Amino acid sequence: MDKRELIKKIEEEVSNCRKCSLWATRKNPVPGSGSVYTSVMLVGEAPGFHEDLQGRPFVGAAGKYLDQLLSIAGLKRENVYITNVLKCRPPGNREPQPNEIKACTPYLDRQIEIIEPKVIIALGNYAASYLLEKYGFKPASIGRIHGKPFRTYSLLGELIIVPMYHPATALYKPYMKEEIERDWLTLSKLLKEVLR
Ligand code: URA
Ligand code: SF4
Repeated sequence: MDKRELIKKIEEEVSNCRKCSLWATRKNPVPGSGSVYTSVMLVGEAPGFHEDLQGRPFVGAAGKYLDQLLSIAGLKRENVYITNVLKCRPPGNREPQPNEIKACTPYLDRQIEIIEPKVIIALGNYAASYLLEKYGFKPASIGRIHGKPFRTYSLLGELIIVPMYHPATALYKPYMKEEIERDWLTLSKLLKEVLR
């Protein structure tokens, strides 16, 4: 099966998923969007209000800012694949619970397996902790590790995890913008080297 079809199958499973209680309060599942033929994946935390309404990731205010950050890194939304640790919105945008992360991340694992990215950008603490742990790194708070590439090797070659501040951080802490944008500029250099 082609990558597109395999990803579609996951989207269908997510639409029918009841593996944690979030299915009951969601308006729409948010499996992910973008190109499946990409070397770059982005992983956020969970859908928020607007994502839940539209069924697509990062379409609210944080998503607008994410588009700016992508352009700093020389990336376009339609050329990357964007998803979240959780595929359904936690009520009131509360934090993901451990049992929800456990129930939902097999979908993320399969998305990564199918897309085979060279770089995964982890947006915020939840994505960074999950992905670093998955690839055998010790998770640390995003304040300590933002912008730092973590390199791991497999039979498929090198995979680089880059933890970043969540774009929403800039919305409630505008003074953080400069530091956040500096990380994405540094990322642009790494991408030039890796995606040649
Ligand atoms: N925040 C996230 O982590 N993911 C989204 O899709 C939207 C906002
Ligand atoms: Fe299923 Fe994930 Fe939605 Fe929970 S959050 S119902 S595990 S798709």
